[in-house]
Amino acid sequence: MQSLWNEAEAARAGGSPLGLRVYSSRLLGQEPSLVLHGGGNTSVKATIPDLFGDPVDVLYVKGSGWDLAAIEAAGFAPVRLEPLRRMAELERLSDTDMVRWQRAAMLDPAAPTPSVEAILHAIIPFDFVDHTHADAVVAVSNTPNGLERIGAIYGGDVVVVPYVMPGFVLAKAVRDLTRTVDWSRCRGLILMHHGVFSFGPDAKTSYQRMIELVTQAEEHLRVQVGWTGDPLVRPESATPPAPDRLRSLATLRNAVGRTRGGPVIARTESTGVARAFADRSDAAAVAGRGPLTPDHVIRTKPLPLVAAGEWNEAVAGYAERYHQYFTRHRERETELDRAPRWVVWPGQGSVGIGTSVKDAEIVLDIARHTARAIGWAESLGGWRALPEADLFDVEYWELEQAKLKAGGASPPLRGKVALVTGAASGIGQAVALGLWRHGAAVVATDVRREVSTEFAKPDLVGLEIDATDQAAVVRSVEETVNRFGGLDIVVSNAGLFTPSQPLAEMDPMVWDRSLTLNLTSHLTLLKAAAPYLALGFDPAVVIMASKNVPAPGPGAGAYSVAKAGLTQLARVAALELGKLGVRVNVLHPHAVMDTGAWTPEVLAARAKAYGMTVEQYRTNNVLGVEVTTRDVTEAVLALVGPAFRATTGAQIPIDGGNDRVI
Ligand SMILES: [Zn+2]
Repeated sequence: MQSLWNEAEAARAGGSPLGLRVYSSRLLGQEPSLVLHGGGNTSVKATIPDLFGDPVDVLYVKGSGWDLAAIEAAGFAPVRLEPLRRMAELERLSDTDMVRWQRAAMLDPAAPTPSVEAILHAIIPFDFVDHTHADAVVAVSNTPNGLERIGAIYGGDVVVVPYVMPGFVLAKAVRDLTRTVDWSRCRGLILMHHGVFSFGPDAKTSYQRMIELVTQAEEHLRVQVGWTGDPLVRPESATPPAPDRLRSLATLRNAVGRTRGGPVIARTESTGVARAFADRSDAAAVAGRGPLTPDHVIRTKPLPLVAAGEWNEAVAGYAERYHQYFTRHRERETELDRAPRWVVWPGQGSVGIGTSVKDAEIVLDIARHTARAIGWAESLGGWRALPEADLFDVEYWELEQAKLKAGGASPPLRGKVALVTGAASGIGQAVALGLWRHGAAVVATDVRREVSTEFAKPDLVGLEIDATDQAAVVRSVEETVNRFGGLDIVVSNAGLFTPSQPLAEMDPMVWDRSLTLNLTSHLTLLKAAAPYLALGFDPAVVIMASKNVPAPGPGAGAYSVAKAGLTQLARVAALELGKLGVRVNVLHPHAVMDTGAWTPEVLAARAKAYGMTVEQYRTNNVLGVEVTTRDVTEAVLALVGPAFRATTGAQIPIDGGNDRVI
């Protein structure tokens, strides 16, 4: 493994021990073969003054919930060293007491809760301590003769620690094992089935030792199984698979979400190691032997689901097996949900499932590293992870579950997938952003190219799509399902106010153009989306019509007729799709002033035409309010949410009140 240490950068990180601690922690965090998503922890011992200027020995240890890759000084909790060392001498210490007394020993009560390994860091007699879950080391230890292999690789200058539960028990085990150890001759600790500790008098020594220890395991793999050192990169998303595969994916998402109790995001990975693993004839057998390191079980559950289709039965079977596993170990505790997080889909690859794109991606990252490590270990004589009782203890360990709960209440649309058309500007743009801010994963489409640069986040994606191009619209729906696993919300908003022309002078081209975009394109979208919406969670369609439907204006025939047709289309869709549980409702916005259509010139001209000031014209409605894209967005959010769970076929004006309609 390559050392990333750079003297110039280290110097810039500052001369202080904490500055260097941040620097080398980030170096570890940058390497996914060492730690993944919150895994691992680091510390530095220092003497700092308290409020009265008296020196205090502290352990700055990684705070729970921080990721090494992005850690800052504030991510380290300063805990008095003395109480931590004394805790290691106790016969027993409950998790609750450990957390409480560690927090009580902190110099800064606003700092994060110290890592569960704080006591272990405290008893290692070096200033810098680094801990990772290095793939190569753990993979070698996860084999039938792992202990001998580890012994042969490292010789006598590391301490090998048999697996015990992380936290106090592990600190105690290390304490007992090292009573007679000469630390000055020791390069590190190898924790069987778990990871590696390195240490040293300075940041560089501790970091370089970690790299050395990992490199030794990699060399073993190079000789034994042809390890190449190629980085394990996340493949770019591939083109959508065939529609039958997408239907199957949406069915899987539906089955998993129902088992879990709410909507989920399903991300697929169909190339590289994920695909190779899924295509192993013994995938179910080897994946059934447990995870790479126990820390992963809170993300992936102890086992993946290995199945190819028939998802309802497969997920039900998984849930039943999970329940049996739970009852085998401890009936009295509350059972966590029984839904799989990682699905191995033969012929396809891996599916990562979470309540956000980020969580689903974390599952895929762990799955990729696990699949690769299983490959190595199988070549070394067989993958042998921990017994399920140990996995259960970690999965149901309150200190691990606390990591997932950090971050507060989840937004209302978390786990939902939305598609918004006409989203490059105006109402569509505001709605796409609103749905995303409320937690949904969103695909935003528009005929204008800028939509793809405007929306370029993992969970908010812009696609350049011409709503009147039927094949492109179908593709946009398939791309949405391919990216996020399904579809729950469609906001059919693409439209255009065609030039004013009296019927007697109507240009047939203008008429056709309005009908094609303002009416027919919505049918194309509904048709493409319906089979996926039927598999969605409280699926809802919002059709953007117009005040011109209940109150048409002279000269706006092409527009008003198309929008009236669109409203009728929505009503029929409400009747037909209602049988599938899909709600279809209509909004009639009017004079939404903060959109590109209402330039100051247009506003001035319209106001003049009505003999009003611009100010009067802006608020020319019963309530005397200015109608904005925010009002339309709020209405969409309400319509797709639980407030309108029992409403379909409704038409709601967003116009400040129109006396021709009321
Ligand atoms: Zn660990």
